[in-house]
Amino acid sequence: AGRLQGKRCFVTAAGQGIGRATALAYAAEGASVVATDRDAEKLQGLDGIETLALDVLDDKTVAAAVQGAGPLDVLFNCAGFVHQNSIETCTDDEWDFAFALNVRAMWQTTRAALPGMIGKGGGSIVNMSSACSSLKGAPNRFLYGTTKAAVIGLTKSVATDYVSKGIRCNAVCPGTVDTPSLGDRIAANAAQAGGMDAARAAFVARQAMGRLATAEEMAALVVYLSAPESTFVTGQAMVIDGGWML
Ligand code: NAD
Repeated sequence: AGRLQGKRCFVTAAGQGIGRATALAYAAEGASVVATDRDAEKLQGLDGIETLALDVLDDKTVAAAVQGAGPLDVLFNCAGFVHQNSIETCTDDEWDFAFALNVRAMWQTTRAALPGMIGKGGGSIVNMSSACSSLKGAPNRFLYGTTKAAVIGLTKSVATDYVSKGIRCNAVCPGTVDTPSLGDRIAANAAQAGGMDAARAAFVARQAMGRLATAEEMAALVVYLSAPESTFVTGQAMVIDGGWML
C-alpha cells in the first residue's frame, strides 16, 4: 500500500511546477487527490486525479471548495507568486497582491479545512514558504521574502493551536526549483544579466550543488510531511535548498 493510502489530499496551484509534481506524487502514494489551480487548462493530463478550477484569492469559492472536497487528511498550500523588487521599488499594489496570494489565501484554505480535519481526529497541513524568508535574504526579493517569512509565522501558529487536535502544520523552504515560473524570472533578468544563459547561471550558482532542484525533489519532502511517517514533526520550516544556506 502507498504511504498515503486512503488519505484525502487537497492541493492549491497544482497546474504546474511543485504543486503539480506533488499532486502526482500524492496519487502515486495511493491518496485520493483534489488538484486545484486558477488556470483550469493547466490541470489537464492529471489522470486519475480530481481537478477543480480554483482561484485562492476568491474567499467564498475557496471555503466552498475546501469544505466540499473534505473532510481532508492533507492540505498542501502551494499557491504563491514571486515579485522581483526592493523596498524602494515595491508598489502598493504589489504589496497587497503578494500578501493576499502568498499569505492570506493560506489562512482562508486552512480555516476551511480545520473543522473536517478535527472531526477526523487529525491531519497534516503543508505550507509553501522559501529559503528566502525569515531564514535568508536574496537580492531583489523584498516583498517575496517578507511574505514567505509570514508563512513561517502562520505555520507555527497553526501548529501550536491545533497540536492537541492531532493536526500538524509544517512549511517547506526550497532553494531555486526549475519550474515554468522560474523561466519567467530568468527571462525578466536576462537583459541585466547579459542574456538568458547568464541569467540562468546566476540562479544555479547560488546553490552549492551547482544545479537547480526539480519539482519532484520538492514533492518528495511534501509527501514526507503529509504522510504518517512524519507524525512527530510539526511547526517546522524545512529547508531544501541544494546547499544555498551552506
Ligand atoms: P509556478 O510559479 O510555475 O506555477 C504557479 C501555479 O500557481 C500556476 O499553475 C498558476 O496558474 C497557479 N496560480 C497562480 N495564482 C493562483 C491563484 N490565485 N489561485 C490558484 N492558483 C494560482 O510554480 P512553482 O515555481 O512550483 O511555485 C509554487 C510555489 O512554490 C510558490 O508558492 C512559490 O513561491 C514556491 N517556491 C518556488 C520556488 C522556485 O524556485 N520555483 C522556490 C521556493 C518557493
